[in-house]
Parts: sequence; structure tokens; C-alpha cells
Amino acid sequence: MAAQIIDGKALAARTRAAVAEEVQAFVDRHGRRPGLATVLVGDDPASAVYVGGKQKACAEVGIQGFDHRLPGDAPREEVVALLDRLNEDPDVSGILCQLPVPDHLDGVELTNRIDARKDVDGLTVASAGRLALGMEGLRPCTPEGVMLLLAEAGAELRGAEAVVIGRSNLFGKPMAQLLLAANATVTVCHSRTRDLREVCRRADVLIAAVGVAHLVKGDWVKPGAVVIDVGMNRLETGLTGDVDFAAASEAASAITPVPGGVGPMTIACLLRNTLRAAELQLEEVAA
Ligand code: NAP
Repeated sequence: MAAQIIDGKALAARTRAAVAEEVQAFVDRHGRRPGLATVLVGDDPASAVYVGGKQKACAEVGIQGFDHRLPGDAPREEVVALLDRLNEDPDVSGILCQLPVPDHLDGVELTNRIDARKDVDGLTVASAGRLALGMEGLRPCTPEGVMLLLAEAGAELRGAEAVVIGRSNLFGKPMAQLLLAANATVTVCHSRTRDLREVCRRADVLIAAVGVAHLVKGDWVKPGAVVIDVGMNRLETGLTGDVDFAAASEAASAITPVPGGVGPMTIACLLRNTLRAAELQLEEVAA
């Protein structure tokens, strides 16, 4: 069977175009733009590239960007004071503190300083709790992007066996919660899981977020399964995923490539979250 390739690049482009239209409608209604504040402490080159990409993406859809950069030795109090100011600023709909932060700072503390209503990364304790309890809230961008990719592939989640490999707070745990909320039967695997291959072979929906190139072999994939590869592994030959794409494509009904699958959806969902945060904040003011 030749699997359908789920084109994350195309879906991300459509998602961004839809956000741009909705942003324009928001501006027409409210006379102001949604705004995203990014906070980068230090000069880690990879983080600077990520933040630059997010700011550029905001500008492209008409979201106002607030690009805050602090020196690598900025004291905790200075970063906290900035986050507190952004929490109070009505022009700022969403806040993102780029991780990792320098060693003298605590990334968990700084993330949790962000008001849950502006937590567009969906990574605060409050947002994670709201997700776990099935309450409305902002969801982490990469798992949310995977849900959109699954919908794009026409994957039936209700009653499906879904297997997530990886249990990080950033991806695996929120992914499992979103699948559960969509009525899948969810199994979460990790480095101590026994007989990973057999567990994966049960999956109607198999999602790999491990960080080990080509961990998932072709014979781990149930015939007809939908396979989502979240992994981003930089090899000498280029970027590759956690799934042996060529072999898995023989068994799967649909599969995401790396690159061009999950990756482009993450920023698209960040933009969606920023618009959503702006709408929710205005609804709250009006209520
Ligand atoms: P992480 O925090 O390092 O978590 C990796 C998870 O994989 C852990 O739960 C770990 O188990 C598990 N694991 C490690 N080796 C394993 C093995 N041999 N068998 C089964 N499970 C194993 O990583 P992450 O932040 O979730 O990211 C995972 C991958 O996704 C990375 O490649 C990352 O670059 C990529 N990613 C991509 C995007 C995107 O936008 N495309 C976003 C986020 C992440 P333990 O918990 O037992 O250690």
C-alpha cells in the first residue's frame, strides 16, 4: 500500500491564510490588532532563529509583534518584571518565553509567570490543568498541530487505538490528553516501555515524538494506520524523523514526512492561539 503523504507545509499555509483573514476581521471589529510578545534571554543562536521566525510569521498575518531581548546575564527580577508588565499590557494578547533560558534562571518559574489567558504556548501549569480537566484553554502548539494534521488525513479518532511514543510535558502528555478528549483509546510509551514494537502494532494512529532517528520500523506499523512523525533529528544527511519513512509508508494509510509534516504546523498554531487569546480577552472585558 502506498500511503497518502500528509502535507504539513500546505496545511500550515492554509491555516496561516485563514488566521490572516480572521485577524483582519478582528481589526475591522475592534480597531486594534492581536499582539504577540516574545521574550528571549541571552544570545543562543538557535533560539534567536526560532524567535525571529515567530516574529516574522506574526507580521505576515497582521499580528503585532513585541520582540523583547534581554542580555544573558539579566537578573531574574528583571525578567519577572518584564513578564508581569506584559501580563498587564492590553496590547499584548499572547506571551512566549523562549526556552531554554540561561542557567541562573528557572524556565519553569518564568513560564508559569505568564497569565494563563496569554499562555499561547499552552505550557503553564494552569493551561496543562485546564487541558487535563477538559476545560477551555490554550493548547500547546505542536500537539494542536498534530490534531489538525489528523483531521486533514481524515483519521477517525473516536474509539481508535492511539499510541504516542514520548511522554514529555511539551508534547507527549498534552498529545495524549487531546486524543483522549477526541475519544481515542490512548497508550503513552516511553523509554521503559516493554516490547514497544508490539504496542505500536496495535495503533490505528501512531505518533512518534522521541528524538531517535528511525526508531519506528516499517513492521511496527499496523497496516492502514495513520502515522505522525514529530521527531526532528539532524543527521549529516539532513533533517530526519523518528520513523523509517520509506518502510512505514508501505504499511500506513497516511503518514507525515520530515521535514514538511508536523514542523510547519507548530508556528501556524502559535498564530491561531494568539488570535484566540485576543478574542477570549475581549470577550472577558465585554462580559
Ligand atoms: P523529550 O523531552 O526528550 O522526550 C522524549 C521522550 O521519548 C521521553 O518521554 C523518552 O522517555 C522517550 N524515549 C526516549 N528514547 C526512547 C526509546 N528508545 N523508546 C521509547 N521512548 C523513548 O523530547 P520532546 O521535547 O518530547 O521531543 C521529541 C522529539 O520531537 C524531538 O525530536 C523534538 O525535536 C521533536 N519535536 C518537534 C517539534 C516540532 O515542532 N516539529 C516540537 C516538539 C518536539 P522517558 O520519558 O522515559 O525518558
